[in-house]
Amino acid sequence: MPTAYSVRHEFGGRDDFEVAAFRTRREAAEYVRRHPTVTVHSAGGRIDQIPNVIARREIPAIVPCAACGTGLATSKDPKAFPYCRNCFYTGQAYAHKMARTLAEFDEGLAGSGLKASVEHTGGGCFMLVLQSEIGGEGEYYALTDGDAAVDTGYPARWGYIGRISPVDDEQVALIYDVYESLPPPMIGSVGPGEPIPDEWYERDVAADAAKIGTAEAIALIAEDIANPKPTEASA
Ligand SMILES: [Zn+2]
Repeated sequence: MPTAYSVRHEFGGRDDFEVAAFRTRREAAEYVRRHPTVTVHSAGGRIDQIPNVIARREIPAIVPCAACGTGLATSKDPKAFPYCRNCFYTGQAYAHKMARTLAEFDEGLAGSGLKASVEHTGGGCFMLVLQSEIGGEGEYYALTDGDAAVDTGYPARWGYIGRISPVDDEQVALIYDVYESLPPPMIGSVGPGEPIPDEWYERDVAADAAKIGTAEAIALIAEDIANPKPTEASA
């Protein structure tokens, strides 16, 4: 197996994790030099991490990251997911994968000042974000497939659109939600060997059928820009 030099992020001296891998020790050291600290956003708030440990390790194949070109893909199948972890965590990997979809939002909303990007919201969760190119201090739009993920396929489909406050990242207006008109989720659990209730499937199927395409999402956002839905606090 080929070897790579990995950079880990340390925070609080406990949960270290690898964020990038490079072909040479020099490239890894250069990454550390350029990133004395890295601030990441997570469900627990903003955390400063220190990239400072370089370790040599084996990786399945030498596949340069398709998004940044410098890091190495370190997933189990680097050819299927040719992105480094750093680009995964920053959203750059999905932005690269979703380039056509992002371009559609940028074209469809040209003149609005909004620019499409992908943000990692913690864990394995992502959202597509439409925010002002200048500073990004105004309200922004967040889109997901309805379940805290983004559809990286093409054409993409959307299940949730919200207008979000930049202050606390809370929703201020709901633009679209596939689950809005569906009954609340069933509470309960299924034991080993027990059949999964039909209602669980039916809700998923109905939610999937209610997802909209990118053109429809753009139309709803353009409508909200022209005629903003009242914010939930003042409604
Ligand atoms: Zn990368």
